[in-house]
Amino acid sequence: MPTTFRFALRDLPPEAEALRGEVRAFLREQFSGAKPVTRARSWGGFDREFSRRVGARGWIGMTWPKRYGGHERSFLERYVVLEEMLAAGAPVSAHWVADRQSGPLLLRFGTEEQRERILPGIVRGELAFAIGMSEPDSGSDLASIRTRAARADGGYVVNGTKVWTSNAHISDYLIALFRTQIVPDKKHEGLTQFLVDLKSTKGITIRPIIDLAGRHHFNEVNFTDAFVPEAARVGNEGDGWKQVTTELAFERSGPERYLSSISLIRELIREVSARPDERSLEQVGRLVAGLATLRQMSTSVAGMLQAGENPNLEAATVKDVGTTFEQSVPELVHALVGTEPTNETGSPFQQVLGYITQTAPSFSLRGGTREILRGIIARGLGLR
Ligand SMILES: Cc1cc2nc3c(=O)[nH]c(=O)nc-3n(C[C@H](O)[C@H](O)[C@H](O)COP(=O)(O)OP(=O)(O)OC[C@H]3O[C@@H](n4cnc5c(N)ncnc54)[C@H](O)[C@@H]3O)c2cc1C
Repeated sequence: MPTTFRFALRDLPPEAEALRGEVRAFLREQFSGAKPVTRARSWGGFDREFSRRVGARGWIGMTWPKRYGGHERSFLERYVVLEEMLAAGAPVSAHWVADRQSGPLLLRFGTEEQRERILPGIVRGELAFAIGMSEPDSGSDLASIRTRAARADGGYVVNGTKVWTSNAHISDYLIALFRTQIVPDKKHEGLTQFLVDLKSTKGITIRPIIDLAGRHHFNEVNFTDAFVPEAARVGNEGDGWKQVTTELAFERSGPERYLSSISLIRELIREVSARPDERSLEQVGRLVAGLATLRQMSTSVAGMLQAGENPNLEAATVKDVGTTFEQSVPELVHALVGTEPTNETGSPFQQVLGYITQTAPSFSLRGGTREILRGIIARGLGLR
């Protein structure tokens, strides 16, 4: 049956707006000296000390139950913290995969022992998580993964390779999707998720992959007869596909899906405000209007999460429209100003333009490609 989009207009509640002032003051105190190109890295920035300070303020695991260290605040308050952090380009990477998806996954599908053991550490900003889904021959077609977790005494023996695993080399845990059973012609069956301890599991080799901008955040993670105990299994054997699609919905739902180029918009405004002309005013106006619209759509998704509704369709739409927007920014900026992008040298504006130009192609790949999202949207609307 055909469905329609539900993007309800929503004002943030007064408590969320009050929180905004606190977050801005914190960022002024903790992060005001950061260079523009550092801010451009935004959610790529990994800083455990910063994450601990965010945790101490009560801004990780904000919506989680108090018995696991959480703060039982609303999704809209969490939204405000996140958008302020991202708009400032704060280095949230050491806590935010766990805050966004690994923690919620454990809350929903983990055992009580896993929740009690892991969630308080995430809330304190002490535990960093990586995502082990993609494999060398399985990206969009995730259900075709081959890394095998075979039953053994007290657990599983894992063999295979994960790839593009962001920050695996500096994280504590990996939430990994493995094949526990081969069911002929039914690739979505026989998949299971595991909480893999990256620091103490023997048989894991993590090798760097350097990205287009010359940075190391990607990795190849190889498992050779790596033993993963029964207690590390998340959910029931064979439920991995259902769980992983829930996890991907968390991954797609936030403001990070349209704010990746915000530092460049900020630098553009700084650059053109010295000698504003009609063309630059119009272009900046268009960019700000695009941002405002996407923000409205994105807060509407946060409101659906708060109301306990399923925002999969809307989250996929925000990510698709949002990444199209954020990918268009470097080209528009270059066409408007004509300044050449640079890497380490040049003005702050040139460096930010250089960094965003080099990373923008990835915006529509991570968390599900454009084509895959459009398939989800079409299905959600009853069009296929
Ligand atoms: C910055 C970044 C960070 C990432 N971090 C992680 C991570 O931490 N953990 C992790 O597990 N993975 C991570 N990934 C991997 C990411 O999830 C995959 O790159 C993505 O799912 C696409 O898979 P692929 O690269 O194998 O491309 P492919 O699946 O081979 O796709 C190649 C192209 O074909 C298109 N295509 C594929 N199938 C179809 C279809 N059925 N119909 C139409 N078009 C199709 C795709 O849209 C794409 O344009 C990251 C990727 C990036 C860019």
